Amino acid sequence: MADRIMIEGVSVSPDHYIGGKRVASADSFETRCPFDWSNKLADVARGDAETAALAIDAATAAFPAWAALTPPERGVYLHRLADLIDANVEKLAIVESMDMAMLHESLRLRVIPRGALNFRNYADLASEHRERSWSSKGTANRVIRMPAGPAVIITPWNAPFMLSTWKCAPALAAGNPVILKPAEWSPLSASVLADLIDEAGFPPGVFNIVQGLGAEVGNALVNDPRVKRISFTGSVPTARVIGRAAAENIVPFTAELGGKSPLLVFADADLDAAAKKAAGQFDDGGQVCMAGTRIIVEESIREAFLERFQHYVDMHVMGDSRDTATTVSALIHPKHVERVLGFIERAKANGDRIVRGGKLWKEGTNFIEPTLIEPKSNESEVVQNEVFGPVLTFQTFGSEEQGVALANSTAYGLSGIIYTGDAARAERVGRAVRGGTVWVNTFLVRDLTAPFGGIGISGIGREGGDYALDFHSDLKTLQILEGSVA
Ligand code: NAD
Repeated sequence: MADRIMIEGVSVSPDHYIGGKRVASADSFETRCPFDWSNKLADVARGDAETAALAIDAATAAFPAWAALTPPERGVYLHRLADLIDANVEKLAIVESMDMAMLHESLRLRVIPRGALNFRNYADLASEHRERSWSSKGTANRVIRMPAGPAVIITPWNAPFMLSTWKCAPALAAGNPVILKPAEWSPLSASVLADLIDEAGFPPGVFNIVQGLGAEVGNALVNDPRVKRISFTGSVPTARVIGRAAAENIVPFTAELGGKSPLLVFADADLDAAAKKAAGQFDDGGQVCMAGTRIIVEESIREAFLERFQHYVDMHVMGDSRDTATTVSALIHPKHVERVLGFIERAKANGDRIVRGGKLWKEGTNFIEPTLIEPKSNESEVVQNEVFGPVLTFQTFGSEEQGVALANSTAYGLSGIIYTGDAARAERVGRAVRGGTVWVNTFLVRDLTAPFGGIGISGIGREGGDYALDFHSDLKTLQILEGSVA
C-alpha cells in the first residue's frame, strides 16, 4: 500500500480499491492541479493487465451473492453510500476542484449532492420496479430482470465524480458488481469515493476502482470475456476502440460521447435570458459535453444579441476554482490547452473571424480566454468538430427552416437549446432539432428518470431511469401455460 497524501487537508489514497482492499501498483502516473500546474497533487497507482484481472476476479467472485439480494436489500448499501456522500460533500468538492478545476461552489452546492442522489434514485427505482405481466395465447407472460454480471464503467476526466456515480449506481442497483476506471487526468475524487464505499460496508468485490491509463488497464478491462456489460463515457475515437472489444466478446455496450450542440435563438425569445445562457456556456472552461457551443441567432436580432452576449461574457472571471468569484475554470491539462489552441489557429488560417478571445489568458497557464468565432462557412472545422474548451461559434439564419437546418448540420446529436417565446415554435423546433435531449428556454435541468444519450456520433444507447436498469439486466420473458400448474 502506498502512503496516503493530503489534498487541502483531505487524506487521499493513491492506490486502487479491489476486493474491499487498497492495492498498490509498482508504477504510477502523476496528477496536477489545472489552475496551478506547478502543484503536483499525487503519484497515482498505474494499473496494468494484472490489476484488471485482479479486479475482475473480485467482481466475478462477488457476483452470485450480490445478484441473489433483492433490490431493496441492495438498496440499503446504496442509500448508506448516498448518506456518506452527503456527509462528505466538502471533502469531495475540494478534491475534485483541485484535481479537475471544476468550480468549488458549484461542486459543493449541486454536483456532489447530485452524486448522492444518483445512488438514492437507483436504489428506489430498482426496488419499485414491477415486472410487466400479461396473458396472451393461453400463457401467463412476465418480463424478468436478471443481473447480468460484472460491469466495467469507464469515465472521462470532466465531471468525474458525477459521471462515475451516475453510471455505477444503476449497475449496482441491477445486481452487477462494478469495476470503475476513472480517467487518468482527474483520478482523485474516485479514490475518496472508494473510502466511502468501504465505510458503507459493501461486500468485498462489489464495487472496485482501478486507476491507470486507458490504453493499459482500460484496454485490459474491456477485453476480458468475464465482463458482461461495458458502459463508457468519453470521446468518439475511444468509443470505436472499446466498441470493437465489446463486439469481440458480444457484450452490450453503451457509449455517451461528445457533442456540438446548437443554441438557437429566435427573434421572439427573451433576448437577455438567451444571451446570458449563451455566455454561460463558457462555465467550466467549456469542458461540458452538452454545452451549446454553436450559437445560431435569427439575423434580425444579430447586433442586439451580440451586445447582450458580450456584456455577460465581460462579467466572467478566470482563476482559482476554489474562489467563489471565479466563473471560468482552467483547462484540464497543457496537452488539452494545446489541442484547443490548435482549433483556434486552424480557424484563423481558414479565414474564420475571431470575434473575441482566441488566445491564452496568461502565458504558462491552462486558461484560454472565452472565445467567439464567426466561421467563414458552416463547413469550417470549428463548427463541425467538438473543441471541448471555451470556444463558441456564431452564425445567423433567416427562416426557421434555415435555423433548424444549421442546427442539424453536424454528425453529432447530443443535445440542443432553443430560445423562443412562441409555444407552437417550441414544439415544432423542439421536435425537429436532432439531439437526445433538447431544452427550450432553459439548460441542464434534468430529471434522473428521463433517458439520456446521443444520436449520431454522440453515442449508442440510453442512460437514466429504467433505461439504464434494463441495460444492466438480462431481460427474460417467462411464459407458463395457463391452467398447467396449481
Ligand atoms: P477519452 O475517450 O480520451 O477517455 C475516456 C476514458 O476512456 C478515460 O478513462 C480513458 O482512460 C479511457 N480509455 C482510453 N482509451 C481506452 C481503451 N483503449 N480502452 C479502455 N479505456 C480507454 O475521453 P476524455 O478526453 O477523457 O473525455 C472527453 C470526452 O468525453 C469529450 O468528447 C466529451 O464530450 C465526452 N463526454 C461525454 C459525456 C456524455 O454524457 N455524452 C459526458 C462527459 C464527457
